[in-house]
Amino acid sequence: MNYKTDIVYRKESLKKLLHNILKNEDAIVQALYDDFRKPAFEAVLTETHFVISDLKDTIKKIKSWAKPKRVLPSILNFPSKDYIYIEPYGKVLIIAPWNYPFQLALCPLIAAVAAGNQVVLKPSELTPNTSKIIAKIISETFDANHVEVMEGGVDVAQKLLAQRWDYIFFTGSVGVGKIVAKAAAENLTPVTLELGGKNPCIVDETANLKLAAKRIVWGKFINSGQTCIAPDYILVQTKMKARFIAYLKEEITEAYGENPENSPDFCRIVNDKNWQRQCDLLVGCTIVYGGQTNAANCYIAPTLIDEPSLDSLVMQDEIFGPILPILSYDNDLDLKNIISKYEKPLALYVFTENKRFAEKVIQEFSFGGGCVNDTVIQFSNKRLPFGGVGYSGIGAYHGKMSFNLFSHKKAIVKKANWLDLPMRYAPYNNKLKTIRKFLKWL
Ligand code: NAD
Repeated sequence: MNYKTDIVYRKESLKKLLHNILKNEDAIVQALYDDFRKPAFEAVLTETHFVISDLKDTIKKIKSWAKPKRVLPSILNFPSKDYIYIEPYGKVLIIAPWNYPFQLALCPLIAAVAAGNQVVLKPSELTPNTSKIIAKIISETFDANHVEVMEGGVDVAQKLLAQRWDYIFFTGSVGVGKIVAKAAAENLTPVTLELGGKNPCIVDETANLKLAAKRIVWGKFINSGQTCIAPDYILVQTKMKARFIAYLKEEITEAYGENPENSPDFCRIVNDKNWQRQCDLLVGCTIVYGGQTNAANCYIAPTLIDEPSLDSLVMQDEIFGPILPILSYDNDLDLKNIISKYEKPLALYVFTENKRFAEKVIQEFSFGGGCVNDTVIQFSNKRLPFGGVGYSGIGAYHGKMSFNLFSHKKAIVKKANWLDLPMRYAPYNNKLKTIRKFLKWL
């Protein structure tokens, strides 16, 4: 077995992984429910289906992705044939978060394996049922010296980070991202950091308010707001605000009923600590909808907050829960003043029928990625890079980009011997004039 060089072996391993995931799909969905009552619909749509589709695509394309690519040679090297060879980094560490605990662990793992690496995966300790089933599937699929799962918490992560790796792929919070980057710097290990941020969602006067409300409610409250690319806060033009809030209320009720605590489609906050953090964010806020909490099952209702001050707790860091602040703005300068107050976010959304305004927003602000007239769905296109910028992350993946991310691209010039132009060799004598002429001509 040589996963480093043997593409067929890698492909067969991935096929085995696909088989084992399909065999265990119900158990995975159950584990996600047991961890934080993730509804089966969301578990399939955003976790198992996503991974299965990624696997199928990778299996289909691995051979062509892994092939050396011929590129046009430089005339300076004439006569030569030039190639990019794709080489695995070697030993890869993947550290995963809890919010999409299956998908965010498996998708990078699939790409790292496809690219020929040895992989150690540490799933999140906050979703223990999912962590356990991931460990079971991986141990049934791979030799431990090829791919291994190390379950555990911060102590395990820190022990792993103290070792030397050839690549580290981390998904999680900005604070822990900095710890990972520092550990990686010790050995100049390249990293991908998939982090979070405070994602603005702009609704301008031309927007289709009802549809905007529907799509925002879906993107915000799926996974109970515990989504790195969920809208964090709304910026709505002042004159539309009252109408827009009414639509948001309507859409929340439509999706989750009068009492979302009874809805089978609304999941829970992952643990007591995160639940308490969400409750603390509500203190002193003007709640215009929701606000109910229940410690017994880590429930926080979908909640709308009206005009929180930018100094309030809820407007400091990423919310990462079902609380949606609504701020009003009058003009582009207001937008700029508010959005620029925060680090570059992972996502930005703009709801408008005004194409020029949408373009202006896209070009004016720096952010990982986003949508015009929708939320979250940029994640689902394999041909779009997924990643942050600045504090929201380093590097991007999905589809073929994931394979490339876990591969070193080695530049190779294959020079022919039938001609050896003397120009470049010393002694240079009076060659300078000739070389100048030649370089100008290039
Ligand atoms: P987290 O940073 O607390 O934990 C992520 C992982 O790091 C876990 O496996 C955890 O065990 C480990 N870890 C925690 N503390 C550590 C430490 N001190 N040293 C070493 N390892 C440590 O993040 P989380 O709470 O699991 O996830 C939520 C965060 O992740 C949010 O900020 C969210 O925006 C972000 N996120 C980003 C993406 C993305 O793709 N960009 C996706 C999901 C979540």
